[in-house]
Amino acid sequence: MELHKEIARRKTFAIISHPDAGKTTLTEKFLLFGGAIQTAGAVKSNKIHKSATSDFMEIEKQRGISVATSVMGFEYGGKRINILDTPGHKDFAEDTYRTLTAVDSVVLVIDCVKGVEEQTGRLMEVCRMRHTPVIIFINKMDREGRDPFELLDELEHKLEIQVRPLTWPISQGQSFQGVYNLYENSLNLFRPGSSKINENLISISNPLDPELEKWVPESHCCKLRDDIALIEGVYEPFERELYRDGLLAPVFFGSAVNNFGIRELLETFLTIAPSPEKREAEERMVLAEETPMSGFVFKIHANLDPNHRDRTAFFKICSGRFERNRFYTHTRLQKKVRFSSPTHFMANEKSIIDDAWPGDVIGLYDNGSLKIGDTLTEGEALHFRGIPSFSPEIFKALENRDPMKQKQLDKGIRQLTEEGLAQLFIQFGNRKIIGTVGELQFDVIKFRLEHEYNAQCDFSPLRYHKAFWVTGTNEEMLEEFLRRKSGAIALDRDEQPVFLAESEWMLKVAREDYPELQFHTTSEFS
Ligand code: GDP
Repeated sequence: MELHKEIARRKTFAIISHPDAGKTTLTEKFLLFGGAIQTAGAVKSNKIHKSATSDFMEIEKQRGISVATSVMGFEYGGKRINILDTPGHKDFAEDTYRTLTAVDSVVLVIDCVKGVEEQTGRLMEVCRMRHTPVIIFINKMDREGRDPFELLDELEHKLEIQVRPLTWPISQGQSFQGVYNLYENSLNLFRPGSSKINENLISISNPLDPELEKWVPESHCCKLRDDIALIEGVYEPFERELYRDGLLAPVFFGSAVNNFGIRELLETFLTIAPSPEKREAEERMVLAEETPMSGFVFKIHANLDPNHRDRTAFFKICSGRFERNRFYTHTRLQKKVRFSSPTHFMANEKSIIDDAWPGDVIGLYDNGSLKIGDTLTEGEALHFRGIPSFSPEIFKALENRDPMKQKQLDKGIRQLTEEGLAQLFIQFGNRKIIGTVGELQFDVIKFRLEHEYNAQCDFSPLRYHKAFWVTGTNEEMLEEFLRRKSGAIALDRDEQPVFLAESEWMLKVAREDYPELQFHTTSEFS
């Protein structure tokens, strides 16, 4: 059946890393392999360089790049590969977390000199939460980095995941020789600066094969043999099931900029990474091979041109076949909608498609009826789980600077927060509080309100520490809590009550005083 065939050949994943570890470079090499781009430099980094005074043109430029690189689809070896891009900047972490809800696996890039960095840890936390299968690529082996065994230990401890090397580096830095493929028993020799896609592959029967000495200096051969003996003694053989359950991460070594070690990574990825399988909705588990189409919106992008305030909603298909011009049910609004020009993304190009399959991400033209988390189906009332809001870390009150423009401000802030740029909480008396994970978003909001909505605002800092979503089956207690604490209560985008705590201590007190209430750090609770 066509549906099964299309599902089986799809791999949808994200490349994640702390900024500068090599995510953009690796993405580009993957696209080169797939023939989706012809030259290096075609993929622009979506990094935001924040200067002392924010450079708004820079932000807009980055926003443009971020549209172009949001989804990069290409064909390789009969497979359809969709890479979803994630912003590396920590202020946009929430955007990244949401994108991670739309992938079936991830490739995590680590800089061999720096090891596990701050952002890496946070990203992995989200992967662990969702049991996302992870492959690790240790990059920049052409540099004098840390000892590979030490790196593996650090990965296990800091990322709380079992690891298993599938390739092993022969020396590193200036004397880097290449990698030994433990899975296939082959040798891939490193030739710095080589831009060739075909690598210098040499087949070896086992690590003791004298053939090895022909290619690698003797001292390195001895070390390699010792290392491999140690690996085989210490690490369990690679088990695909454990990887699929997000419990075991295979590890590869290479150098993205030198195009080295990428083929092993890509081909192993294609062999072991999962195709779309199932997705949990509040109502039931939805299987990719079900005939009725279903999917959800995980990202919204506004047009860069302020004169055309239309938006693109990024829609991930979870089951069935999506067809152009067919009516689907918008489950939140309970109305029929259809799309005459859905687009898909091939590297830097966008084109209109007639149909799409589970695993694909398509762009839907939206004039304001779609929100992050919205579900489209063929009639069934489904709500997909796993697209929560996370508690922001910075809170500010929104103040209008021009009373004549209240309407514009209200509309602007509603639309920008629907895009997922920040979270909007509304307090009794219509006080609006904006919550973000970084300062940068406040600059972006101010700038865009002014340029796109002709509204002006100020932000005044608030001392809240975190937002907690409050639930409880004891309705009386819940009501009393909401009444007593009304000064620190607000409603989120779905009108769920949120407790804005000034400190961990305030939360502790609330928990003690209201033992039957639950306080959650995300908007979705199991
Ligand atoms: P991102 O922030 O994770 O997207 O990182 P980039 O891909 O932009 O890479 C950051 C810097 O590291 C760039 O200057 C790259 O040229 C460089 N880089 C990437 N891969 C390698 C590598 O294998 N070796 C070395 N020496 N530099 C690399």
